[in-house]
Amino acid sequence: MQWKNQLTGMKPYQPGRSIDEVKKMFGLDEIVKLASNENPFGCSPKVREFMENLSINHAIYPDGYASALRLALANVVGVEEDQLLFGNGSDEIIMMISRALLQPGVNTVMATPTFPQYRHNAIIEGAEVREVPLIKGAHDLQEMALQIDESTAVVWLCSPNNPTGMLIEQHELEEFIQKVPKEVLIVLDEAYFEYITDSTYKNSIELIKDHENVIILRTFSKAYGLAGFRVGYAVAQKELIAKLDPVREPFNNAAISQGVALVALQDSSFIESCRIQNESGIKQLEKFAKEHQLHIYPTQGNFVLLEVKADSDLVFEGLLKKGFIIRSGNAIGTPGYIRVTIGTNDQNKEFLQKLADVLKDAEVLA
Ligand SMILES: *Cc1c(COP(=O)(O)O)cnc(C)c1O
Repeated sequence: MQWKNQLTGMKPYQPGRSIDEVKKMFGLDEIVKLASNENPFGCSPKVREFMENLSINHAIYPDGYASALRLALANVVGVEEDQLLFGNGSDEIIMMISRALLQPGVNTVMATPTFPQYRHNAIIEGAEVREVPLIKGAHDLQEMALQIDESTAVVWLCSPNNPTGMLIEQHELEEFIQKVPKEVLIVLDEAYFEYITDSTYKNSIELIKDHENVIILRTFSKAYGLAGFRVGYAVAQKELIAKLDPVREPFNNAAISQGVALVALQDSSFIESCRIQNESGIKQLEKFAKEHQLHIYPTQGNFVLLEVKADSDLVFEGLLKKGFIIRSGNAIGTPGYIRVTIGTNDQNKEFLQKLADVLKDAEVLA
């Protein structure tokens, strides 16, 4: 068969170990998964209510335009309905952008380490990937701008950046956007937008008013706690959305997912409470890091990248045996670190006790 050359040696996405798998492996009753930045508080209780009184006809195709969700979201975000594009998770929007703009002969610029799907999709499309190392966990926008040339089609920015959690500084971001030619699409992935507490952050939706080449990605998977429903969205000027829309599958959001997202959107107090609890969870982990002199990146997401001064895989295995699933830095380009989702207050407390035990076993802590 005539496979694309670039598929040679490509691996499918490796999901972390599932809760059921780990339970069986180690004979544990309870597992806490702090590996995928899912919301430890679940989702709005209004969603459960909605699910109990469902009246969707699943025999018919969903609304391919997601009209009800679109109208509500347009109001919440403060844009027109035709400035939104929905995806089966923002993952699908990353795929649509790649499919629409990337091909052999063009290049795409991104940070490293960052969210791996930008690179993965770019490779499938045969584009050249230009990766610019982070500086102290932050995007090196100066170098990224230098990497842009007449063959650059897309630049990916991730803020807060996964896996460091660091926000792109506001005036640096604005300066960068000014510098980038209008012919280059700037993707600003804000999957963790709802968790941001930094007072210098300015709502990025303002940026798209003046910039026809900026697209913002957000999702219902993280703070909204709806990862299983697969709803993400993009915001941009309407001309840009109209160019991308033909790439989208006709019925890419299930009816039930549209319904659930719409309900969740109405419960802003749930998001507010998650943001507050997340902030206090970050403080728990920061305190631990400080006490034990382990480096921790200043995060604006619902996860932290924490130094372990040991082989990350070893720490990962040790925690797994104790019932905690996290991400080893070896798997995400940050050896010597682990990425941990902020859990509930109790989960964080227990996690830190287990981590201390593992680090004692590894003779990192006395
Ligand atoms: C989790 C995540 C996504 C993907 O979210 P979905 O909407 O579930 O596809 C996108 N970008 C970043 C940076 C993420 O961490």
